[in-house]
Amino acid sequence: MKILKTIEELQNIRKNITSNVGFVPTMGALHDGHISLIKKARIENDVVIVSIFVNPTQFLPGEDLDAYPRKDEADKKICEMCQVDYLFMPEIKTMYTKEEVLLKAPNKSYILEGKTRPGHFDGVLQVVLKLFGITQPTNAYFGKKDAQQLSLITQMVKDFFLPINIVACEIIRESDGLALSSRNIYLDEKQRKDSLLISKSLYAAATLVAKEEKDVKVIKEKIHEVMQTLDLEYVAIVDREFNEIKKIELNNTIILVVAKFGQTRLLDNIWL
Ligand code: AMP
Repeated sequence: MKILKTIEELQNIRKNITSNVGFVPTMGALHDGHISLIKKARIENDVVIVSIFVNPTQFLPGEDLDAYPRKDEADKKICEMCQVDYLFMPEIKTMYTKEEVLLKAPNKSYILEGKTRPGHFDGVLQVVLKLFGITQPTNAYFGKKDAQQLSLITQMVKDFFLPINIVACEIIRESDGLALSSRNIYLDEKQRKDSLLISKSLYAAATLVAKEEKDVKVIKEKIHEVMQTLDLEYVAIVDREFNEIKKIELNNTIILVVAKFGQTRLLDNIWL
């Protein structure tokens, strides 16, 4: 595995690759969720590129940019183990140099995650477009865990006619159901225990749907009931393009739950 720090190095290598390139963008502190994306990329491509870049433009003032967990050495070992070909770890000044052309995410990026974090998705799209430009992947791998991000990136690829196949990857969970996240390490013992109610509430919702319940209002009530008194930031039931819906449509519905545990926001969702 080669570790690359500059855009030039990666572009020079990319120029000479004529076979399929799989690309997995991450912010590091890699866990089994990231690893599942990398393994899928490894199976489906001749060359695998992973990036680790904690992107400042997607953090709002006061968010955890400085405190975001960084584990460069462990991450390098993980990538090596997963047989990554190129690990791209640029510095901020490499990725952003001057006042730039900015991307404006569509209005639906200002609901749900984007309501709590206005401008977050502008930054996500900006960095992903830069990374796509540098790596020019055939296939790019994203987790369903960040469902709204996945939906916006899919739209960006369509809107800008980028010849990139976006691969949506399943959510990887702890054995007790908690979706893996780099932020889980912030949870204390009680919060970790309480956090299980998120996936429980989603499973309870899925069970209702399996029993033919299609009314979104009833399903939301069930989620609130399971979550008890926890600090539930939002429950949303949307179609794959993130329009709110009233009736569940099988194969076109995502149920999302976001809850706060102290300062830690946890996201989870289920695709029906
Ligand atoms: P991040 O490092 O948080 O930016 O995540 C990098 C990629 O890993 C994104 O596409 C995430 O959706 C994906 N990811 C994060 N956690 C999980 C998980 N538990 N299961 C599957 N994919 C995940």
